[in-house]
Amino acid sequence: MNKISRNVFYIIVIVIIALVGWSLISPSINNQPQQTGISQIIEQVNANNVSQISVADNQITATLKNNQKLQAYKETSASLKDYGITPDKVNISVSNSAANSAWPTIFSVLLPILVIGGFLFFMLRQAQGGNAKAMNFGQSKARLFEPGDKKTTFADVAGMEESKQELYEVVEFLKSPTKFKNLGAEIPKGVLLIGPPGTGKTLLARAVAGEAGVPFFSISASEFVEMFVGVGAARVRDLFAKAKRNAPAILFIDEMDAIGRQRGTGLGGSHDEREQTLNQILVEMDGFETETRVIVMAATNRPDVLDPALLRPGRFDRRVMIDQPDLTEREAILKIHSRNKPMNSDVDFAKIARQTAGLSGADLKNIMNEAAILSARENLKTIHQAKISAAIEKVMLGPERKSRILSAKEKEISAYHEVGHALVGKLLPGCDPIHKISVISRGMALGFTWSLPEEDKHLYSRAKFKDEISQLLGGWVAEKLIYNEVTTGAQSDLKRATKIARDMVMVYGMSDKIGPIVLGEREETVFLGREIGEHKNYSNEKASQIDEEIFKIIHESQKKAEEVLIKNKTLLKKITETLIKKETIESPEFEKFFK
Ligand code: ADP
Ligand code: MG
Ligand code: ZN
Repeated sequence: MNKISRNVFYIIVIVIIALVGWSLISPSINNQPQQTGISQIIEQVNANNVSQISVADNQITATLKNNQKLQAYKETSASLKDYGITPDKVNISVSNSAANSAWPTIFSVLLPILVIGGFLFFMLRQAQGGNAKAMNFGQSKARLFEPGDKKTTFADVAGMEESKQELYEVVEFLKSPTKFKNLGAEIPKGVLLIGPPGTGKTLLARAVAGEAGVPFFSISASEFVEMFVGVGAARVRDLFAKAKRNAPAILFIDEMDAIGRQRGTGLGGSHDEREQTLNQILVEMDGFETETRVIVMAATNRPDVLDPALLRPGRFDRRVMIDQPDLTEREAILKIHSRNKPMNSDVDFAKIARQTAGLSGADLKNIMNEAAILSARENLKTIHQAKISAAIEKVMLGPERKSRILSAKEKEISAYHEVGHALVGKLLPGCDPIHKISVISRGMALGFTWSLPEEDKHLYSRAKFKDEISQLLGGWVAEKLIYNEVTTGAQSDLKRATKIARDMVMVYGMSDKIGPIVLGEREETVFLGREIGEHKNYSNEKASQIDEEIFKIIHESQKKAEEVLIKNKTLLKKITETLIKKETIESPEFEKFFK
């Protein structure tokens, strides 16, 4: 409707412009009649020079045979015959209005009407459109997947067997409730998917929609939040009403933490609107009778900030944990995302899975996509292992920056630095095997040493942490050993080493002096591992003890790195020379130095 009215408005404007334009141009196109007296015309008629005479009211226009036009006015009472102009002498046509002179009059009347009318019409439509919008405001924008349009299924989700099992049960509940009710089991009201970003929560929910065979309403929690207070709550009401009308149904709220945060913490600004929205969700979930076959699913990567009221039984009482994929799951995910890509026979998915410890499903998908792009750029017909390796490095370490040219001196320093890391890493038992050393800039770093764990690890010991710190300090120590000088290149290494040492003392209870106690209450996200702030909940005395212990750990680790590098100084120089020449050393070549 809105579209039509806008079109009408445009047409009116165009017509007005066309008419005005035509009225301006037209007189100059028709050759202008020359004003004369009536006697002149009579003369010409008698001389048989006139081909046509037209009469409009009192105006007489004679068209001569040479196409010239003459115009004159007769007296009102007189007719042409009175002037001796008769039809046998000349062709006469009579029209009752003088077209040329009438148009301006019509214009001057019509134009303002048209303009004002068009304007009013337009305004009216605008206002109505706004009204219609306001009426829609409280409606949720949930997308509905009908049972018919099956898109994603559990087959598209790799690994996560336990999570799938749990969700399969939920689907069963909806399909055949009697089976469960006969045993007195209640249908769960809410299922909360918890897991780090990119691990496939949204994907899993979509798969449930595909499997369930019931209507599936999907909405992101952030869509509840609008500029106006109360809209979120209205949308929640609308969404639940829709779901109930379509029961049995599943209602999926993605990114739940956007509104589900603890009320009244003030963290991130206490937000009236969010609280109202959350309250409405709680109310709606309580309002479900046991007969209502609507299951609410929600996903979050911040379960720690969710309001406890959401988590109590009767609401999101089922929790499905989704973890970072392990080795076999990574392989399965890689295979899923290579299904529509032509893979070369040399691709080794198990090897890629080993190289991508700690990456999420979304990262792995990204790697396969990057590999496809890199291959297409070189006009390859299939995706080779080498391209996948390049993609892994790009995703894990940042894009190569070949344009950043290091001076010979800087390259040498950075080579010593990296080989320092690599040597310490190779020779200390607690470090992971070296996979690759490079002095090609990537992201912010001038070079990198990439070590890879042989298998996924879940436990870290004190010895392992200390060796890791030694490896991190290896670059700094190597620079100092060779040049008796240090550079800013070690900045991020030192930061990470200090963080590990601090956590050992304050979080993991790995210092004998401090003992098994957690110091400093941190606002920390479990999954993101990012600290938001720290409460100092210990005495100043303890604080100096903590500092001492941290210093001790760093110092011991530094000594160890120095020991290793001093003992192997010739090897350090030899490997560095090779690195400067070749720019990258892969693990087989690196291992050769130790035979
Ligand atoms: P989340 O919602 O947990 O942040 P998504 O569900 O949006 O993550 O996952 C992002 C993408 O990563 C998905 O579209 C999917 O292609 C891929 N992905 C993640 N986990 C898996 C998995 N287990 N199997 C297959 N693909 C996965
Ligand atoms: Mg998601
Ligand atoms: Zn370094």
